[in-house]
Amino acid sequence: MSSENTANPTYPPSSDLVANAHANEATYDAMYEASISDPEAFWGEHGKRIDWIKPFTKVKNTSFEPGNVSIKWFEDGTLNVAANCIDRHLKTRGDKTAIIFEPDNPEEPAQHITYKELHRRVCRMSNILEDMGVRKGDRVVLYLPMIPEAAYAMLACARIGAIHSIVFAGFSPDALSARINGSDAKVLITADYAPRGGRQTPLKSNADAALLHTKDSVKCLVVKRTGGQTTWVDGRDFDYNEMALEADEFHTPAEMNAEDPLFILYTSGSTGQPKGVVHCSGGYLVFASMTHEYVFDYKEDDIFWCTADVGWVTGHSYIVYGPLANGATTLMFEGVPTYPDASRFWQVCEKHKVNQFYTAPTALRALMGQGNSFVESCDLSSLRILGTVGEPINPEAWNWYNDVVGGGRCPIVDTWWQTETGGHLLTPLPGAHATKPGSAMKPFFGVQTVVLDPHSGEEIHTYPCEGVLCLKDSWPSQMRTVWGDHERFEKTYFSDYKGYYFAGDGCKRDEDGDYWITGRVDDVINVSGHRMGTAEVESALVAHAKVAEAAVVGYPHDIKGQGIYCYVTLMNGVEPSDELTKELRTWVRTEIGPIASPDLIQWAPGLPKTRSGKIMRRILRKIAEDDFGSLGDTSTLAEPGVVDDLIENRMNKG
Ligand code: ATP
Ligand code: MG
Repeated sequence: MSSENTANPTYPPSSDLVANAHANEATYDAMYEASISDPEAFWGEHGKRIDWIKPFTKVKNTSFEPGNVSIKWFEDGTLNVAANCIDRHLKTRGDKTAIIFEPDNPEEPAQHITYKELHRRVCRMSNILEDMGVRKGDRVVLYLPMIPEAAYAMLACARIGAIHSIVFAGFSPDALSARINGSDAKVLITADYAPRGGRQTPLKSNADAALLHTKDSVKCLVVKRTGGQTTWVDGRDFDYNEMALEADEFHTPAEMNAEDPLFILYTSGSTGQPKGVVHCSGGYLVFASMTHEYVFDYKEDDIFWCTADVGWVTGHSYIVYGPLANGATTLMFEGVPTYPDASRFWQVCEKHKVNQFYTAPTALRALMGQGNSFVESCDLSSLRILGTVGEPINPEAWNWYNDVVGGGRCPIVDTWWQTETGGHLLTPLPGAHATKPGSAMKPFFGVQTVVLDPHSGEEIHTYPCEGVLCLKDSWPSQMRTVWGDHERFEKTYFSDYKGYYFAGDGCKRDEDGDYWITGRVDDVINVSGHRMGTAEVESALVAHAKVAEAAVVGYPHDIKGQGIYCYVTLMNGVEPSDELTKELRTWVRTEIGPIASPDLIQWAPGLPKTRSGKIMRRILRKIAEDDFGSLGDTSTLAEPGVVDDLIENRMNKG
């Protein structure tokens, strides 16, 4: 249901949802106010949502002061994260399904792993890792498919107190060895092969290649996913499946300090060289579990599905740690949205009666381009809440998600956050807020977002306004440092605007106080003195019926200072033509105004994206500037061939 105002339509939650949600508008307002006015009291209370071995007496000890940045939460408490995600549920939820595993091949049966089974598996993995010499504080790199063993391995590390660092299985041997060396890891856990979209990535042979460039002492634990052929180095390689048969199924979880690191995870590399983000045990788990419960309005018997890979922070917080800390049933999907065909996501929702579905705009745009029949052939009546993360969602994709996938019944939570933030910072709550297509809406409890004037660095208090998005104070799951480089941490996030955490993104705040992410600050373009977020022009392009996806960057323009350069991917079956170029120009002029008129439109069969599906605009900027020689760090690029094609097209245009 949409309100009268068509310029900025709002979608209020149904009265049923409001009545039953964890938070309605009044609850949100009261809790938010309490969390800001007295963070000590608020988090002192909500910190108790997880189990502590030794309860904390100190809540918050944080400083954003340049040269002295330090972030500590619950610093004298001790706990074990794995025990919170498993052991504490055994009495009441032992036979409940913790993990549903849906394999790549739809013919292969799904698995339902109960909390009891999860406990056995994780204990065995913990004992195996200890036998291999892993101790508290050691680093373990995971390079695994989306299989339950990935969750076992994460939780086994947490149980021992070892620090995991997951490398997405699509990365190359080079990226893998860099991350093994970067953290001086003792053990690499991998699989023989990773089935994905009907193909098999030879993970073990990639691992072999990576291990040529690491210390000889690094050991390799191999999960046999397919049983396919691999080479084997005796003394270095260990067979997980064989060892798990023998391993003891009991293991005593280590007592960890709240501030002991839980994991290292690299950012996506959209804007430059990836940063090794460090997250710690206590505050991270409190915030991941609390956001999972409130943002998805999670209830005890729900089936929760986050489609991210565990190689990204979204997978860490909302496939594994948040849901399992809450005793939820979480779905792990090994495959891709388009295999065997573009209805796979929806078939999985139907098959497992998914209640909350959480995905990325890039997946939605790709599926939207395939037409509605793939969605309409599935029964999606179990869905209650839809979520999105990773990039600004264009209103066009939002509306499609809302109408076609959600049948107009399901609130969409557009969650803005980062690897660095550990959990959601801006998002609507389903029962509390009337959503707006394209808006990430409100700060979560305890989150003090502010809009700064990019030039003066002063806070803007008026509404509506636009500027850079910063955080005025800490929240429990804030990253603590860059692994091995605290200086880079301070420099990257705390030096541009003194006393604030600078997210790197720009935003608008509308008359209702709702936030709209306008994209990376680096992506703002200045056309004849008018500052413009590229997201806005992209949204206008994607709103055209023939456009599937678009990326917009600025390039040097003699008269305007910067011109608007658009890379456009057309819908399946649509042919590029000069008429279409004209049509799109007129379209954007009418949608936004003459100032936003595209100067150049290049047809792009594919766009350069990170392996987590984000458009790498910095590369597109270089191509638009005819600067092909220095594309920067491309190690996290999903399909390098796309870049070569774009360069070739650009050169042909002259
Ligand atoms: P790097 O920091 O290495 O350049 P990255 O910023 O893409 O890579 P992530 O931590 O995976 O690494 O992504 C966080 C960024 O993703 C945010 O800063 C923001 O730009 C974007 N983002 C995430 N969620 C949203 C959202 N809901 N709306 C708009 N943008 C989002
Ligand atoms: Mg970033």
